[in-house]
Amino acid sequence: MFVETILQNCQNAPGRLFYVCENERLTYGALYQKATRLAGYLQAQGQSPVAVYGYKQSHMLVAFLACLICKRAYVPCDSSYPIARIQTILKQSGAGLLLAVEPLQMPGFAVLTNAQLEEIFSQNRPWSLPQAHGQAAYILFTSGSTGQPKGVAITHENLENFLQWLMRFPTVRHTRRQVVFNQALFSFDLSMADIFLSLLGQNTLVGATRAQQSDFIRLFALLKESSPSLMVCTPTFMQLCLCDKSFCKTLLPQLHTILFCGETLPKKVVEKLFSRFENIHLLNLYGPTEATVAVTGLEITPQMLALESLPIGRAGRHAVDVQVLNDALAPVQEGAWGEIVLSGKSVAGGYLNGGPGGFYTQGGQTYYRTGDIGKYQDGYLFCKGRKDGQIKYKGYRIELGEIENALQSLPQVEHAVVLPLCNAQGAVMRLAAAVTLCQSCTENQLQNALAPLLPRYMWPSRIHILQALPLNANGKCDKTKLKEAILWKKP
Ligand code: AMP
Repeated sequence: MFVETILQNCQNAPGRLFYVCENERLTYGALYQKATRLAGYLQAQGQSPVAVYGYKQSHMLVAFLACLICKRAYVPCDSSYPIARIQTILKQSGAGLLLAVEPLQMPGFAVLTNAQLEEIFSQNRPWSLPQAHGQAAYILFTSGSTGQPKGVAITHENLENFLQWLMRFPTVRHTRRQVVFNQALFSFDLSMADIFLSLLGQNTLVGATRAQQSDFIRLFALLKESSPSLMVCTPTFMQLCLCDKSFCKTLLPQLHTILFCGETLPKKVVEKLFSRFENIHLLNLYGPTEATVAVTGLEITPQMLALESLPIGRAGRHAVDVQVLNDALAPVQEGAWGEIVLSGKSVAGGYLNGGPGGFYTQGGQTYYRTGDIGKYQDGYLFCKGRKDGQIKYKGYRIELGEIENALQSLPQVEHAVVLPLCNAQGAVMRLAAAVTLCQSCTENQLQNALAPLLPRYMWPSRIHILQALPLNANGKCDKTKLKEAILWKKP
């Protein structure tokens, strides 16, 4: 259904701008023409997933829509990923074709270059819009504790359910023919919220590049020039924007809604926003990639600032069934903490190739254990962090085990432990690694050897070389002592 609505929107407003990013402009009319032509091409080629490699170019979005039309899953691969990670993603996803929006050498793999894509866009060809019957809409990879990224396929039905639920928020539904700001990478599922709510409301999506996000003069110039009405971002990103007092109504006179998702929304962020933007709507959405972007959420009111923390949802208003269970998977009482467990229409069927993780089935129903600690209280749902070694850093979800495994795969390293270093509010500020060696080397050499194995946001800021790791009574690494040792160690 949502694909039909998107295509209708394109046809009804061909001259309207759909996407702007740096020097690129894409109208709804051009999106329609390019996406349907590419869909026709892809349809004739097969059914396997299609990897789309690039950053925030408009061709990425054209490729996503083309795949949705012809019911081949798209697999977004951000060009900042190391080659080894792309190879794993291609293998695990079963992709049969790679659309290289940015140049990429992948010997032995079917690759379409940007020039070939341009040629496809220039040729009229037949295409159709088959009905969705459980096909994957997209495949995303999350950080995996086993050291390998874990793939999850989100079906058209999952995505449809998420979008219908998102549109139930009046402020989202009423955002039509306005400007929407995109912060997230297209390989991070938060971007699905801004991409699709733009397409469904004939909005103009403004993509902020990495360079713009890391230079506040450029970022603020972009914000001023594009004047978004709605922003989708992580709380960390907003925290950074708010450091500058000019991030206020004068800079963003049209801004009426901010959608937060991906990590804990601190009260301080909300307080500042309420004081700088009159009548702003702040939505706190919560959910894992495995259950399609977000499954709970609510509008934060000033009264909620008096609660112990900001709620992530309201009972009975979720996109799926949300239970809080104990370790025996039995419901805990109202007010007691347990694990947030999800089931229902937005929840994926499992990891690709049946990989291990939080999915289980009971009575024919698939459940997903999020690993998040939550509770229901007074009709609200709260979340107070994770049960395991998964953290959020700069908005990215990271399994510390994945970095440890990458370090341990280096021939020089015997043992590696990665620690998140947090500020007083518990937000991760830096990642530090401690290693013991089996071959002598320097920290620089280790950093250089690690770089090709992990995305940049996973690189530890320091790799401390120790003679031995401190142990606790169980013989496990004593992370408290280790943290002290790292913090007090002279550089
Ligand atoms: P990802 O799959 O990258 O979207 O990460 C999902 C995880 O991010 C969840 O399991 C939570 O640990 C965390 N998360 C997402 N949204 C929120 C939120 N609103 N408040 C607290 N944690 C969140």
